[in-house]
Amino acid sequence: MKHEENRPWTFVQSIAKQQRWWVVPIGIGIVGVGFFTVSNLLDLTPPNLEIIGIEKGSTYRGRITLKVSVGDANSGVASLDFMLDDSPQPLAHDQVEAGNISWTLDTTSLSDGSHVVSVVAADTSIFRNKTQQSFEFRVDNSPPQIDVSPESLRAGQGRTLAIFIRVNEPAAQVECNLFGWDFTCYPLGSDTYFRGLIGIGVTHPAKTYPLTLRVVDLVGNTAEEVFQLEVKRTMFQRGGYIALPPAQRKNMMNKAKNRSDNIKRGKAYTRSTKVGMQLWNGTFIEPAVGRLTSSFGKYREYNTGVRRHHLGIDIANSVGTPIYAGNGGIVTLAGRLHLYGKSVVINHGQGVSSSYNHLSKIHVVAEEHVEKGQLIGLMGATGQVTGSHLHWGMVVNGVAVNPREWTERDFSAP
Ligand SMILES: [Zn+2]
Repeated sequence: MKHEENRPWTFVQSIAKQQRWWVVPIGIGIVGVGFFTVSNLLDLTPPNLEIIGIEKGSTYRGRITLKVSVGDANSGVASLDFMLDDSPQPLAHDQVEAGNISWTLDTTSLSDGSHVVSVVAADTSIFRNKTQQSFEFRVDNSPPQIDVSPESLRAGQGRTLAIFIRVNEPAAQVECNLFGWDFTCYPLGSDTYFRGLIGIGVTHPAKTYPLTLRVVDLVGNTAEEVFQLEVKRTMFQRGGYIALPPAQRKNMMNKAKNRSDNIKRGKAYTRSTKVGMQLWNGTFIEPAVGRLTSSFGKYREYNTGVRRHHLGIDIANSVGTPIYAGNGGIVTLAGRLHLYGKSVVINHGQGVSSSYNHLSKIHVVAEEHVEKGQLIGLMGATGQVTGSHLHWGMVVNGVAVNPREWTERDFSAP
């Protein structure tokens, strides 16, 4: 054995001599693999894992899509695993595109309640560095359950119907449909207890009507239930025949004046100032001291041929008698009308308004916020009247109702 042949330069010389140049690229390859192994060995950084589409503690229904972006700068991503309540999920992702994976979580196959989804990404290093993200979430695929107080299903003509609805879970929206109209029901101190207020017209036929309640929960599950509502006949007083003097006859028959008054009043009743808020508190007060001269709903016939129910309460006293706000609210009308004279309308929110008419003086301005019992004007005889009195009205969602009921009943409970 020749000693010299063990020397490396001799080996190179020998390669050169033998013209075996192909050994060089193989050598570079071996060094490269070695380098790669070293860098792989030194990769102590776990993959980056970012997940959008699900939030810890949130509630979901139906199918939700998780967008997962995963990457590993050093050694690359070896695996991505999805776990649902500790059981591995097949990776039936819809698209794998440059580390962006969208994965559909179908909650309809899960029971309502708490669940955990985990995503684990591992890199290719010998350490198999892992990143895990877990999301505890809730599933709700059940429609809410609706419970209505039995008192909510009866109402007399000219009265206010208050519908009290209890839901077995927080609701985002509660609506009812009655007489072909949709009404919003507002939360009553909690997101599981709601109230709808509907005025029943004095001439609304007394019979049974379908009342449809529609409740949407926080994730969009919707329940719809139909109840039977009974409108009961109210025996209104009959006021006989009223002979108006010629000037008043002419006024009553003036359709333009009537229309103009009604448009202004209508706007004041429906103005959506803080409409979702309840600006009143407890029962209403009587707005003036005096003698009741005409009750609500009294049926009268005029020498103009007009026959109608009196849609307010008349309280008579001398000119200048103070008139107080029945409850808190925002003044949405303060001015002179043709037939109603100097008038004030207070919008109490949630479709409830009160009106004060034939005043001699108005002490408030439009947009002013008034408190219960605040002086708003003085009694008078403006507009079409036969003497000094207050015509006091209440309107609930566009329909005139008996104001007296609001002084006797606190609508915050059945
Ligand atoms: Zn009146």
